[in-house]
Amino acid sequence: MLYSNLSVNENGHLTFAGVDTVEMAKKYGTPLFLVDEQRIRDNCRMYVNAMREHFGNGSFPLYASKAFSFKEIYRIANDENMGVDFVSIGEMYTALKAGFPIEKGFFHGNNKTLEDIEFAVKNGVGYIVADNPDELYDIDAECKKQGKKQKILLRITPGVDSHTFEKINTGKVDSKFGMPIVTGQAEQFCIAMKQYENIEFCGYHCHIGSQIFDCDPFYLTADIMVDFIADMNKKHGIECKILNLGSGFGIKYNQNDIVMDRVAGIKGISQHIKDRCNQKNIPELQIIMEPGRGIVGDACITLYTVGSVKEIPGYRNYVSIDGGMTDNPRYALYGAEHEIINAQRASEIEDYVCTVAGRCCESGDLIRENVKIAKAQKGDIIAALTTGAYNYSMASNYNRICRPAVVMINDKKDRVVIRRETLDDLIQRDV
Ligand code: PLP
Repeated sequence: MLYSNLSVNENGHLTFAGVDTVEMAKKYGTPLFLVDEQRIRDNCRMYVNAMREHFGNGSFPLYASKAFSFKEIYRIANDENMGVDFVSIGEMYTALKAGFPIEKGFFHGNNKTLEDIEFAVKNGVGYIVADNPDELYDIDAECKKQGKKQKILLRITPGVDSHTFEKINTGKVDSKFGMPIVTGQAEQFCIAMKQYENIEFCGYHCHIGSQIFDCDPFYLTADIMVDFIADMNKKHGIECKILNLGSGFGIKYNQNDIVMDRVAGIKGISQHIKDRCNQKNIPELQIIMEPGRGIVGDACITLYTVGSVKEIPGYRNYVSIDGGMTDNPRYALYGAEHEIINAQRASEIEDYVCTVAGRCCESGDLIRENVKIAKAQKGDIIAALTTGAYNYSMASNYNRICRPAVVMINDKKDRVVIRRETLDDLIQRDV
């Protein structure tokens, strides 16, 4: 099995976090997200402890809540001493309603609206990660209006290609995020920042992409950023306290992905940064990382019911499920492959080659092509694995399909953390 929280019971059913997935599907209906609370907490603790021990100097991880945002996750993040990364006031509002201490939040985004900035400053978000000079102007003006001073980081584009999916790679020079160093725009950004009185500069943020499985791209990024920090200090007297390195490490979506030793990774990056800071005479930095999928990715699976099995001779076998791109658009968007298991027949041989198709009126609505599962029949429960990140949070009501329920498992006990959407929810805002 891909993860230790998956197993097969005496009925041949897939179990997840110790519960029978077929029983869960019966109890709550499908599609259904199941979340393993302990796995989330373990992932948080790993990052918190490793960053404390190796980076030191008050370093800590943020949970990148774009991965999966709902009230309970912010309570867990707070319990586990995580900060949080927000990319919208919707995420911030959810966190506030869950009682998350907003001063532990970092507000990202490449085009924050005036409403976003007003909300963030008014509610006392810890840091705003300013994306560009226009935004600095808006933040300063809003702070002046509210009589507040706002801590900020500047988002810098270090220009590192982390060899990941092109569509989710955000650290290269040609990016809508941040200001690039090589073009001189990052320096202009710093100069612009100095004129504003209502902001307090604390450091820099960068993000080179996701699903990174080795430390080399982080080393390269750290070198570029520490050199930039030294340069800005020397030329403009800008003192940096915080360096936010962006996301965490990659996670295992399928058998071909490696399992990364994340503690060793953090230790290596820490030593690398310390050495570079010493060389450049930079005081010790507070380091921040922002794992999203590294916290929730492997803590969730999605269950579906098979509605039909259609075999087109000489072409392919379609196994159609009652969800699809409306709850998991990642295959349609990036060709991202989630492992699929016939949860009903988890002990049978996986030799049936099929395409798992969603129910939307869209031929690209596929969850996976050419995957081998135990031969499926109408009514079987199918599980897509590692669906904690960028699944529910990217869910839509395309075709006016209701979003699934999310059930959290802890100590083999299940509880609803997001209820299933209803038809009335769908028309609530229609006039
Ligand atoms: N931080 C930033 C700025 C991001 O853009 C992302 C993802 O896109 C993340 C953190 C989280 O990345 P991941 O879920 O791969 O850990």
